[in-house]
Amino acid sequence: MAKIRVLNDRLINKIAAGEVVERPASALKEMLENSLDAGARELRIDLEAGGKRLIRLIDDGEGMDADDVLMALERHATSKIREFDDLEEVTSLGFRGEALPSIAAVSRMKLRSRTKDSPEGREVEVVGGEIRGVRPCAMAPGTEIEVRSLFFNVPARRKFLRTTQTEYGHCQAVATHYALAFPDINLRLRHNGAVQIDAPPAASLRDRIAQVLGDSLLERLTPFEESIAGVRVIGFAGEPAMHRADTSMLHFYVNRRAVRDKVLIHAVRSAYEDLLPKRRAPVAFLFIELPPSAVDVNVHPSKTEIRFRRANDVHDAVVGALRAALSRSQPIAAYESKPAAKPEPSAEPDKDEGTLASLERALKRRAERRDAERRLEFEEPAAPARLTEQVPPPARGESPTPPPRPAGEPPTAPAEPRRFRGGEIDPEEIVPLGQVENSYIVARIRGGLMIVDQHAAHERIRYETLTRAAARENPPRQGLLHPVVVDLPPARARLVEEQREAFAALGFEVEAFGPGSIAVRALPAGFEAEEAEELLEGMAADLERIGSAPPDRLLKEMVISASCQGAVKVNTPLSREKMAGLLEDLFRCEMPMRCPHGRPVVLTIGEDELRRRFGRS
Ligand code: ADP
Ligand code: MG
Repeated sequence: MAKIRVLNDRLINKIAAGEVVERPASALKEMLENSLDAGARELRIDLEAGGKRLIRLIDDGEGMDADDVLMALERHATSKIREFDDLEEVTSLGFRGEALPSIAAVSRMKLRSRTKDSPEGREVEVVGGEIRGVRPCAMAPGTEIEVRSLFFNVPARRKFLRTTQTEYGHCQAVATHYALAFPDINLRLRHNGAVQIDAPPAASLRDRIAQVLGDSLLERLTPFEESIAGVRVIGFAGEPAMHRADTSMLHFYVNRRAVRDKVLIHAVRSAYEDLLPKRRAPVAFLFIELPPSAVDVNVHPSKTEIRFRRANDVHDAVVGALRAALSRSQPIAAYESKPAAKPEPSAEPDKDEGTLASLERALKRRAERRDAERRLEFEEPAAPARLTEQVPPPARGESPTPPPRPAGEPPTAPAEPRRFRGGEIDPEEIVPLGQVENSYIVARIRGGLMIVDQHAAHERIRYETLTRAAARENPPRQGLLHPVVVDLPPARARLVEEQREAFAALGFEVEAFGPGSIAVRALPAGFEAEEAEELLEGMAADLERIGSAPPDRLLKEMVISASCQGAVKVNTPLSREKMAGLLEDLFRCEMPMRCPHGRPVVLTIGEDELRRRFGRS
């Protein structure tokens, strides 16, 4: 007996819903995309219980006429493409014609829509994919979709829904993503009646970011705009210090479609690789613009995955744009005390000196000063001085120091401490003053002073030298007059021998010299013969720790290892010349502010901070 049957449409839609609708946020995403495709300028979203109880979206887009409202619920019914070839040039966010029927199959849906030419709207009620009622309705032009009790008829799915807070978080992320992709759209999101996002049309992406994510974030982003190999990349690079545990603050858009893509994630990670601690992710906003034919958007029903036809070009363009932005911004850590209490009143002598009133004032001032001192003394250990690295981008042509106050006008809230950027510190103007604990170099710079972690600084310098060397066909090297023979545990000696090529790519020449011994015949240019032994020992130990890795990964790890192993240690006295050389080399680096492990290298103290500390502000 035949056992194969054709499934009915309702069942097919329910099955398809499994791929398209994973959770409330995925339904919301499809609904938002439809509204945007319909040219909506205003989107009103209402959620209840994280979208589990209700998702309502009201738009002012072109709407649907009475027939289309029903057609929209048919599977594979779309107004967006007609022929197979259209798929090559998709410019709309939707194109598969399966979102609405899928959502309708697993919820109680009310769909109302009206075109501007029609006097009234049309309302359709669907329960679990079955149309329950069609009637005319009064409404403004546009579309309103209400999705209630998602998965009410798919218990297995319903069980997998998370807490209201988690589901709401996903919904909010989707709304935020699209608010950013379309800055000129008016978007409001309410959850259980409370307004969560209220974003009227913004003039620019910058304004939009401030609107939905806050001003303080904006200050820590560096804008960029580049076209590399036909790929246009626009966006913002977050300061390395803002690193996160996951990639949730990476926002990617390809032709304004919000996507999650491995190529892009990899590109961002490699652009930030030597600026962040291991396994941390940066904050970045990337808008990629490509001809539609250069991207395949039809990879997965949810359309958040895409495939680039020239993935390498896209990858390199993203890395290039981010690196350029990061080396331009280079925020350097600034020492910041808690804002000193009350600033001293005007230094002008009291006109009525010697009077009772002036005595009272003087006493009050003294009490205030004592208070301020006490605060410094007692509050700081509990809340230690913060290392902040927020650097508001200096407006072009504007001096980085605040304008002088009009005379006699008491200062208001204490100003933010001055923050320096890498490019602002001129290597020619650095004057080393000495070391603290033989570990930190203190130096004078224009507008303040800085403290440099000598080991981290040397690591950064060596890292950049070696990275440049590794990129060259013949890395610069210097032969040793007498080869240095290094004794290693036999297993490690073997590892070094196996990686001879990789060593050579960095400028080393190493070879086996009897069991457990390695002869070093050449070192990368700039390295010294005296460090050869320690360097090889350290690198061999690191090789063992790294284990097996793909060749390019391994090379990077070796660069980091070699940067660290031979670098000037802490607790090492340095001559004035050595300090000067180190600082000069550091500020000639592309990214002087962070060591290759992502730790800060430099701490600056601006003159304003000194003034404040000495009660001169
Ligand atoms: P797709 O977006 O892939 O075309 P959907 O199932 O999401 O498929 O939507 C089916 C059709 O319904 C769309 O092609 C569009 O014509 C219409 N539609 C859906 N939502 C809206 C809306 N908010 N405004 C106007 N038309 C809509
Ligand atoms: Mg759609």
